[in-house]
Amino acid sequence: MMTLMTSKRTWVPRMLRGSLVTLRRRCGKPSCHCAQGDQRHEAPALSYSEHGRTRVVMLAESDVDAVTAALERYRAAKTELEEQASTGLAALTERVAAERAEPRRPATGPVTGFGALLGLTRAGFTAPSFAIFTDLMAGWVCAPGRRTITAMITVADPAGRRAHDAYHRNAATAPGR
Ligand SMILES: [Zn+2]
Repeated sequence: MMTLMTSKRTWVPRMLRGSLVTLRRRCGKPSCHCAQGDQRHEAPALSYSEHGRTRVVMLAESDVDAVTAALERYRAAKTELEEQASTGLAALTERVAAERAEPRRPATGPVTGFGALLGLTRAGFTAPSFAIFTDLMAGWVCAPGRRTITAMITVADPAGRRAHDAYHRNAATAPGR
């Protein structure tokens, strides 16, 4: 007759850490053969450490294969993770070293010309709107008194090359405004 112990399905987690060990010990019954001599009961167990302490969980023989597989899954995943991190470290080290070996870019020191100052802002504009912006800047520099957009246009674009709303639209979308 099958007992409940041997017929019940065992469940083992997918991943485990620790070591499979064999415990050899006395059962404590005075009448048992293990009470005398060197004979011991042997039983599989999982030994693992938790918060720096070694712990042991007793296993049934039927658990051993699944526990072994779960330990191997953990070992493989850990190896994979370590390899990914090592590859990442190597790539980062290589990138930093390559950047250090590059010739230094020209220092962004004091701007010596007004054109250079305008050039610094160029990256934020499309070409036509940069042209409008430089017109506005020229107007801003040259316009006396209050620096309104209308006053800038009057000075920078007296011939009315562009419609005023183009200038205002440009000012509305210019970065840093
Ligand atoms: Zn015993």
